[in-house]
Amino acid sequence: MSVRLAHGIGDPPADQPVDAVVALGANLGARSETLAAAAAELGRLPLTDDVRVSAPIETVAVTLAGEDVDAPRYLNAVALLRTRLAPATLLRELHRIEADHGRVRREKWGDRTLDLDLIAYGDARIDEQHLTVPHPRAHEREFVLAPWLDIDPDAEIPGRGRVDVLLRAMREDAP
Ligand code: ATP
Ligand code: CA
Ligand code: CA
Repeated sequence: MSVRLAHGIGDPPADQPVDAVVALGANLGARSETLAAAAAELGRLPLTDDVRVSAPIETVAVTLAGEDVDAPRYLNAVALLRTRLAPATLLRELHRIEADHGRVRREKWGDRTLDLDLIAYGDARIDEQHLTVPHPRAHEREFVLAPWLDIDPDAEIPGRGRVDVLLRAMREDAP
């Protein structure tokens, strides 16, 4: 009962651990330190263990106007974790970690100190007002797929297919 209360009634932990995938991104502040601190905080989440984090890659910012070579560049990474936190609870924790690192939401796809997206949660398909899983744009983002593949060569996006296949197709289509 205490575990239930700690994580919100109606949002109980999963019976079995689930493999979840979190994408990390930062283009303001001390990016590398922020990603390292966020990864450490993922490792300290309740009901969560086995956190593995990719090496960061540097990417050009994407804004509503498209790629912006003048905007501060991103560091992106992907973390795999095993967790019994329910998906909505995990998202809440991700938002808390973002806020702890000074995340401010102004314009959509604006610069940010830290962005943590829940990319996948086992093979779950979730379509709720504040949570869509798998993340609806992950399959078209090289900055998610490439670091993910690095730490999980067999990675798959439920409903979209293997990450290596998606990445290869994207790179073949690139101009
Ligand atoms: P994008 O979702 O395209 O990567 P973003 O990360 O910049 O854009 P945010 O402003 O961080 O977008 O988040 C907007 C909202 O998206 C959040 O309030 C959150 O509730 C919602 N959301 C829905 N599904 C997810 C998910 N899988 N991971 C993270 N946030 C999600
Ligand atoms: Ca994002
Ligand atoms: Ca986000």
